[in-house]
Amino acid sequence: MKIKSIKNRNYKGKKVFLRVDYNVPIEKGVITDDTRITATIPTINYLLSQGASLILASHLGRPKGKPSPEFSLKPVAERLSKILNKEVKFAPDCIGEEVKKMVNELKEGEILLLENLRFHSEEENGDENFAKELASLADAYVNDAFGTCHREHASVYQITKFAKDVAAGFLIEKEVESLSKLLINPEKPFLLILGGAKVIDKINMVKNLLDKVDTIITGGVMAYTFIKAKNWEVGDSKVEEEAVPVAKEIIKEINKRHLEFHTPLDHVIVQKISEDAVPIITERGTVPHGWIGVDIGPQAIEEYTDCINRAKTIFWNGPMGIYEIKKFAKGTIELAKAIANSKAFSVIGGGDSAAAVDEAGVADKISHICTGGGASLEFLEKGTLPGIEVLKEE
Ligand code: ADP
Ligand code: MG
Repeated sequence: MKIKSIKNRNYKGKKVFLRVDYNVPIEKGVITDDTRITATIPTINYLLSQGASLILASHLGRPKGKPSPEFSLKPVAERLSKILNKEVKFAPDCIGEEVKKMVNELKEGEILLLENLRFHSEEENGDENFAKELASLADAYVNDAFGTCHREHASVYQITKFAKDVAAGFLIEKEVESLSKLLINPEKPFLLILGGAKVIDKINMVKNLLDKVDTIITGGVMAYTFIKAKNWEVGDSKVEEEAVPVAKEIIKEINKRHLEFHTPLDHVIVQKISEDAVPIITERGTVPHGWIGVDIGPQAIEEYTDCINRAKTIFWNGPMGIYEIKKFAKGTIELAKAIANSKAFSVIGGGDSAAAVDEAGVADKISHICTGGGASLEFLEKGTLPGIEVLKEE
């Protein structure tokens, strides 16, 4: 898939509407993680270097279509200004007369951040008039908000019908390039690592990847759901019951295709989930009555590391255990390290998986860490997204 790049385009003297994802966590008015802001800096700096002035727009939280101070982007303007060491003007709304006036006064090289798009219900409803009004603010449109591209929202989707010049920022470009590499002629063997908790949310992605992958290894609630589907004992381990029938179906499909499929050879188990629990290791791949699986065991780590070492392409979604508790994080951390040491092209999707990779201190050794959880999974399920389709090169 070829999408319209911001490279080789003329932005000299132009006002560019840049859709970003500044949906950052804010506690008591303080931004607790600014990764999403820093991630947009390359695109911002590039556009400024080309002589543009920038109108930045984002959503934040779920204000339900009306202004609400707790979801104001004002703290984001301040943080962005600090990061860039440059003034970032802030508009009290995203449309209307006052915004137009501020945009008109914007000079080359200046930045204006608009207030939360979702203060208007038209944003999430994909309203065309609202999209038109947003588009009319600028001479060009750039989208770098990958995490929102699975939604047909006004500033992501409808706006491209009205914008004069449409392109994708560097973040979207890298995301699409990396995810497409998994879908189109991935280098074999292709290893899919499935863990975490939201089994139902991930099932369609798994189904779509069955025709591409060679090996599947499992951990976390995902593993217990598959183990249950095999009619093996899971004890009191967390299983996503409503996903068991689909897991059975998937096992059938895996067998039909003669894929290599593993549930953990052994497990770290406890009688209750807490920091002071005394874990033991099972002797086999099942969990006895009265016990809870909280991590994969040492034999499983060894077998999975071997799968990683053989792979040329790896996609990993979901931790192998309750990694938030240090005692139960070993399986997840060891796999992160093994992936980092492998020569495979590796992509990590999912917020918790990305956090675990960070914790293992190996984030810079991963080929690509997805920024948009839901959007990345949907891209792997469908091969495209509504917000990406409108950025495609004709
Ligand atoms: P991601 O954000 O990477 O997509 P998920 O949100 O699907 O991953 O899953 C992460 C969550 O799964 C973590 O909070 C972790 O504690 C939980 N989890 C992993 N293994 C288990 C387990 N064996 N039992 C209960 N919860 C688990
Ligand atoms: Mg998660």
